[in-house]
Amino acid sequence: LAVKGVQALSPYQPGKPIEELARELGLNPAEIIKLASNENPLGPSKLALAAARKALDELCLYPDGNGFDLKQALANRFGVAMNQITLGNGSNDVLEVIARCFADSDSEVVFSQYAFAVYPIVTQAIGARGIAVPAKEWGHDLDAMSAAITERTKLVFVANPNNPTGTVHRADAIEAFLDRVPEQVLVVLDEAYCEYLTGEEYPDGIKLLGRYPNLIVCRTFSKAWGLAALRVGYSLSSPEIADVLNRVRQPFNVDSVALAAATAVLNDEAYLNRSREVNTAGLRQLADGFDRMGLPYIPSAGNFIAVEVGERAAGIYQSLLAHGVIVRPVAGYGMPRHLRVSVGLPEENERFLDALAQSLVAAG
Ligand code: PMP
Repeated sequence: LAVKGVQALSPYQPGKPIEELARELGLNPAEIIKLASNENPLGPSKLALAAARKALDELCLYPDGNGFDLKQALANRFGVAMNQITLGNGSNDVLEVIARCFADSDSEVVFSQYAFAVYPIVTQAIGARGIAVPAKEWGHDLDAMSAAITERTKLVFVANPNNPTGTVHRADAIEAFLDRVPEQVLVVLDEAYCEYLTGEEYPDGIKLLGRYPNLIVCRTFSKAWGLAALRVGYSLSSPEIADVLNRVRQPFNVDSVALAAATAVLNDEAYLNRSREVNTAGLRQLADGFDRMGLPYIPSAGNFIAVEVGERAAGIYQSLLAHGVIVRPVAGYGMPRHLRVSVGLPEENERFLDALAQSLVAAG
């Protein structure tokens, strides 16, 4: 029934919902911890929540299809013009619109092995050919990726930091890569986790927009800003690219509650700082725990970490579920020996580490 690219698609596998596991185990959902979808463990910002509640009064009305307030707030924050911004129903939506606008069934789209699962999906959905370039030490091999560009290449996706590996490239490496990409090829720099980066050595894609007219920077409110449920993401690009994207996106792709909450959360710098602190401490806590258990892990710059539990990964995942702890298997990414765990609150990380230690013993 479906067209060729769609037939070949493997669906995106979301984390197992808490309610589903609670039903299976006969537990109260409150007893289950989910560290499977790189969500913010802090709960939403109070400013965002208040704005979202207020927006509920206007449920009969369509949202502002141009997202004026949110775009204005983003433009002020980042020193860009409003006509450089494209809003999406999560950054996944923006990634999909980008693929639809700039590639077709004659195109090749380059991304890395072990990169974010949505890149091959949006590529295959439009019948384009995905080129998955072998990774280097779990991260993007940027030299090999630029070498993989052909006359047919229309788009290159670079996740920095990458999910599910947590690997990150420094600014000099990203700039050297952008210098090698021909200007007719668009580079999508997916910075979904960039707010967790600390240190001058990491790139801020927005600062590169002026130098590289073929660059699109994608960001999200789902992670450090803690609004995953509301689905708000955006891209920053040249006005010419944004104009194309804004023609093709659905007219009301971001709803009023999401627009209000995202606009408000940009004023909650304290929330963002707390997100960073909790994440940095949580990454250290998890890494220390893995060290104690003698488990290798991929050092991560995101709000999650991939730990190598070996060939029994599927069994250990199941055993963690039986302990009421949901993590993410990454066999679908070609990483059958790893599990990806999102950073939780200190007590959640501890509960996961205890359950992991017990699961390893049980697995022999
Ligand atoms: N890019 C990367 C690298 C991600 O890991 C994610 C979320 N898993 C996204 C984009 C999409 O996030 P959202 O659609 O929630 O904005």
